[in-house]
Amino acid sequence: MKEMFSIFGNPVSHSMSPLMHNMAFKDLKIDACYGRYRLEDGAMLREKFFALGLRGINITVPYKEDAYRACDKPDAFARKVGAVNTIVQKQGILYGYNTDAPGFLKAISEFDVKRILFLGAGGTAQSTAIILRDEGYDVTILNRSAGRLERFKEDGFETFTFETFIPDTYDLIVNMTSAGLNDDHLPAPREILDSVIPDCKACVDVIYGRETPFLKLAKSYHKPSKDGSDMLLYQGAIAFEYFCEGKFKFDEILYHMKRAFEIN
Ligand code: NDP
Repeated sequence: MKEMFSIFGNPVSHSMSPLMHNMAFKDLKIDACYGRYRLEDGAMLREKFFALGLRGINITVPYKEDAYRACDKPDAFARKVGAVNTIVQKQGILYGYNTDAPGFLKAISEFDVKRILFLGAGGTAQSTAIILRDEGYDVTILNRSAGRLERFKEDGFETFTFETFIPDTYDLIVNMTSAGLNDDHLPAPREILDSVIPDCKACVDVIYGRETPFLKLAKSYHKPSKDGSDMLLYQGAIAFEYFCEGKFKFDEILYHMKRAFEIN
C-alpha cells in the first residue's frame, strides 16, 4: 500500500517540502506520496496525523513545539530543544526528531568560523544555537525583544537586545529572524549591522528563495554569504533518512531533492 507523508503547518502553501520529497520518492522508486496539510490547531496534530493515515510528517511554523508534545518518543536531541520538525510513525508509535538544527550545522560547515552572532531568538534559533554550542561554536544571541531571550539566558548563552548590544567581533552573522521573509525589513537596526558586518568572515540567512535586505547588505560589504536553501535541502534529506529508516544514503537523497529545484 502507498505510504502517505505530509507537511503540517500554517501557512503551508509556500512549502517546498512536497516537491523535494516527492522527487526523491519517485527517483528512488518508493511507493509513497507527500502532501501538505494546513493545520488550524496545534493541539489537534496527533489526532489529524492518525485520521489522515500518515506514515510520517514534517512540521513547520508554528507547530514545532506542539509536534514535540504530540510524540511518544522524541529522540535525545528533540528532548533537549523541545521542538520537533519530523515525525515517523511505527506500529502506532510516533517518533520525533529535529532535523533543522543538523541541517543548519551542515549548511555552515563550509565556513571556517568560531564566533557566531545570531540575529533572532525564535524556535529555529533555539535548536540551532544548542547544536552549534555542542559542536564547539561560540554563539551570541541578539534579539529585538527581551522576552524570547530568557530561555537562552537560562541555557547560558550571552544575549543582547538592540538596546543593550555592545559591538564585538564575530566570524559569522546569521539572520535567524523572519525579517525579510515577506517584507523588506532588516533583522536589526542598520547601525548595529554596520558595526558587526565589516569585521565578519561571512553572513548567512535562513530565509530562502529571495535576496533579503540582510543578504543585500552583506553583499554590499563584499562578504561571502548564502541563503537558507542548503539548510532547507539538508533538513529535508535528514528527514527523508528517518522516513525510509536509513535505506538510502544522505548524498543520494540530496541529489534527488536538488533535482526538484532544477526542474521547477
Ligand atoms: P519564530 O516565529 O519562532 O521567531 C521569529 C524571530 O524573528 C523572533 O526572534 C522575532 O523577534 C524575530 N523577528 C520577526 N520579525 C522581525 C523584525 N521585523 N525585526 C527583527 N526581528 C524580527 O520563527 P522561527 O524561528 O520558526 O523561524 C525563523 C526563520 O527561520 C523564518 O524566516 C523561517 O522561514 C526560517 N526557517 C528556515 C528554514 C530552512 O530550512 N531554511 C527552516 C526553519 C526556519 P521578537 O522576539 O522580537 O518577536
